[in-house]
Amino acid sequence: MINVAIDGPAGAGKSTIAKAAAKELSYIYVDTGALYRAIAYNAVKNGVIDNENAVISMLNSTKLELKYIDGVQAVFLNGEDVSAFIRTPEISMGASRVSAIPAVRAFLLSLQQEIAAKNNVIMDGRDIATVVLPNADVKIFLFASAECRAERRYKELIEKGENVKYEDVLDDVNQRDYQDSHREIAPLKPSEDSIMLDTSAIGLQESIDLVINTIKERI
Ligand code: C5P
Repeated sequence: MINVAIDGPAGAGKSTIAKAAAKELSYIYVDTGALYRAIAYNAVKNGVIDNENAVISMLNSTKLELKYIDGVQAVFLNGEDVSAFIRTPEISMGASRVSAIPAVRAFLLSLQQEIAAKNNVIMDGRDIATVVLPNADVKIFLFASAECRAERRYKELIEKGENVKYEDVLDDVNQRDYQDSHREIAPLKPSEDSIMLDTSAIGLQESIDLVINTIKERI
């Protein structure tokens, strides 16, 4: 199986780029952030997002599955498709919080590894190259400046009809970057053998082409 790892901070364009590259190469696109988001959604729904021990006990009754409907990933939480509820700023911040809990990361590790063992995948996340798939065939670290990333995320949210301010989105991006890169377990960082791609100054199509070419050159 061919495994491609794409890591990087929030808003670097990972999901859009990885999705397009997966389609071009006929691989499965695995968005691992959706798994952390589903856990956060469950924690918020159960009123335990502020209580680490309660989040950990909640895992005992949590069943997560990734399904592919017409090639599009859907995340099922205890049998319910929650994909439509996990993209709000509240759940983004919650995902960043629950992702710092070692038991949550351990809970999601085998699920991610099983998918990669059975399929050709492009998997996007924060620790794919460093922890989940250390033997991935290609490892890419996609990044862009915080301002560029906030601008893109802001536009996305506005297009979806969310009522947000650019300054708040930038604050969220900075706070999530800080949390993601300073946590003790699996912090956001490139692995030594990652290919570093900066998308600050290039458009989406150019970024997609760059990633596809980078993968094709190596497999
Ligand atoms: O990629 P996305 O923004 O959906 O991820 C949501 C949060 O989940 C991130 O801020 C990060 O804290 C966490 N995450 C993680 N490891 C991954 C994927 C996501 O810690 N592999």
